[in-house]
Amino acid sequence: MRIDVVTIFPEYLEPLNVSLVGKARARGQLDVHLHDLRQWTTDIHRTVDDTPYGGGPGMVMKPEPWGAALDSVLAAGPEGEVPTLVVPTPSGRPFTQELAQDLASRSWLAFAPARYEGIDRRVIEEAATRMPVVEASIGDYVLAGGEVAVLVMVEAIARLLPGVLGNAESHRDDSFAPGAMADLLEGPVYTKPAEWRGREVPEILLSGHHGKIAQWRREQAFARTLAHRPDLVARWPRDAFTKKEREALSVLGLAWDDSAGRFRSAVEPVEE
Ligand code: SAM
Repeated sequence: MRIDVVTIFPEYLEPLNVSLVGKARARGQLDVHLHDLRQWTTDIHRTVDDTPYGGGPGMVMKPEPWGAALDSVLAAGPEGEVPTLVVPTPSGRPFTQELAQDLASRSWLAFAPARYEGIDRRVIEEAATRMPVVEASIGDYVLAGGEVAVLVMVEAIARLLPGVLGNAESHRDDSFAPGAMADLLEGPVYTKPAEWRGREVPEILLSGHHGKIAQWRREQAFARTLAHRPDLVARWPRDAFTKKEREALSVLGLAWDDSAGRFRSAVEPVEE
């Protein structure tokens, strides 16, 4: 996969040389190109921002350097291809595991992390006439700039690329993995020693009984999801569970509510 990042702080992307992503780069699985936005400025101060039309606090990134940067990224990539432009912004659609999977299936991504109050809107609109554009938010909070969001997204995407993780199976049981674990958080994990500071690893994990272990892990995942993300529980479809699993859900106080069309906890207030 080819990745281009245009930023005023290329050095902020240094962690892309480390660990899993760094190794993927070294192996040629990720071809990362960092570009300093200021190389496309034309004034002596290398200005990338200006005051907002309509007034208000903060500055807005000027369209000219971004337009020239995107022209140049497009021209430098594989002939006849266009990247998917990913614009990190708190006002974008949520960056989820599903979106990471989608982006991991593309051969070329270009990231446009902003600073200040963001990029002049016309840049995004004009880019969208030339390439797919995804505006994505990594969470309901506001960072000072999009570089950290790029690091988050690239890492989540890179670990899904074939051959990047040592064990191809390792994301199968992750929280949010498509299939059996979608809308489900992963339960607790343990390693040796079997006893540490008086705390024992749950016996079932030492039993060697793969069927029972899988069942236990799924029940733990139910409990954890209920505790931390009841919004995900509300998305569970009725027929996703075996009879045994429905019993486990009822131990947690979860039962299917026909009128609401979702699983509901006995302790939840009933909506009027
Ligand atoms: N005024 C903008 C708003 O309220 O939507 C926030 C601008 S923020 C100070 C500057 C830049 O940081 C954004 O343009 C974006 O690139 C990045 N950023 C901040 N929070 C982000 C988030 N939650 N997800 C993705 N990018 C974010």
